[in-house]
Amino acid sequence: MRPPGRRQIKPRPLSMQELSWIREILQHNPKWADVDIQSAEVVAECDCGKCKTVFLDSAAPQNPSLARTKGWVGRIEITTDDDFMITVALDQLNGKLSGLYVDAVDLPEPGNRPFPEGWRERGHNVVPM
Ligand SMILES: [Zn+2]
Repeated sequence: MRPPGRRQIKPRPLSMQELSWIREILQHNPKWADVDIQSAEVVAECDCGKCKTVFLDSAAPQNPSLARTKGWVGRIEITTDDDFMITVALDQLNGKLSGLYVDAVDLPEPGNRPFPEGWRERGHNVVPM
């Protein structure tokens, strides 16, 4: 699978939904539970048109002790009452939050409904990574 394309945008603050997902993932990862994410902002979006993935940047690393590392911080899996699975995965590079990958999988056949505009959660699971 090729990495998603990035469309640069005028930097904007994280939305309330993005902030709440990020905070929840961070709280479940001991290495990240206490970091300050105030300076994180959205600088690019995925250009695939199907997901809600955003790319992040900030003035300084939130977690300088992880310099020269990269990888997943954690993941949330949400199931909705209309049968979507929404996955939210947080990525870091050099101790700086770098991407929030938000995808909606349409579970029933034919599985081609677009990303839902709203949903009610039936299940909600945080997976530390
Ligand atoms: Zn995408």
